[in-house]
Amino acid sequence: MNQERKGSILVLLGPPGGGKGTQAARLAKDLGWVHLSTGDVLREEVRRGTELGRQVRQIMETGELVSDDILGRIVLDRLAHLDKPGCILDGYPRNLDQAQFLEKAKGDRRLVVVSVEVPEETIVKRLTGRRFCPRCGTVYNVCFSPPQVQDFCDQCGVRLERREDDREDVVRERLRVYRESTLPVVQFYADRPYFRRVDGDGNPEEVYGRLKEAVETLVQ
Ligand code: AMP
Repeated sequence: MNQERKGSILVLLGPPGGGKGTQAARLAKDLGWVHLSTGDVLREEVRRGTELGRQVRQIMETGELVSDDILGRIVLDRLAHLDKPGCILDGYPRNLDQAQFLEKAKGDRRLVVVSVEVPEETIVKRLTGRRFCPRCGTVYNVCFSPPQVQDFCDQCGVRLERREDDREDVVRERLRVYRESTLPVVQFYADRPYFRRVDGDGNPEEVYGRLKEAVETLVQ
């Protein structure tokens, strides 16, 4: 069986709020791959009030990491049920133990890794200004892409909300956790031939262009 038929996994690394979620969703659509955001999976569990959601809610609200065990189960389960030629992992691995786990969990799939790098102060601005519509999910930013009427969704007219973990104290904590736990993961992959760094500072269109080019050189 050749590499294409076994499928590929793209690990997208980068600080929380660096814009990689949006980029990952677009790239997955372009490539026809699955977008697996572990943060989205967990938030959905919280929203539905499941047993897992109850377990992880408080940890997520403080910006700390959920246990490797829980994440390992989510990732294994999703990889086992992939129905597309590839998968973009967005938000996993977040520490060295998860990176080691993925080495085994990936099976025969080809792994490629891109780190989208953004300065911390840009992130603080992006995250603390972020708002979303609880009805349609549209995301706004009070500095960069405000709604026409302050605090209300352009499409639904519903009052916008802020993610609990986008408060400034929590954002700073998430960035600290990123530096401490996830930067070593960037180092772990840094000298591999299937690793690229992408400058994530700039408008989303430019960043997407750079990201796509990097991924194309890796998966061709
Ligand atoms: P994100 O949307 O990727 O920033 O994830 C939101 C929150 O979900 C994080 O702050 C963690 O609490 C949790 N989370 C998501 N992915 C992971 C992971 N790979 N390991 C541990 N916790 C995670």
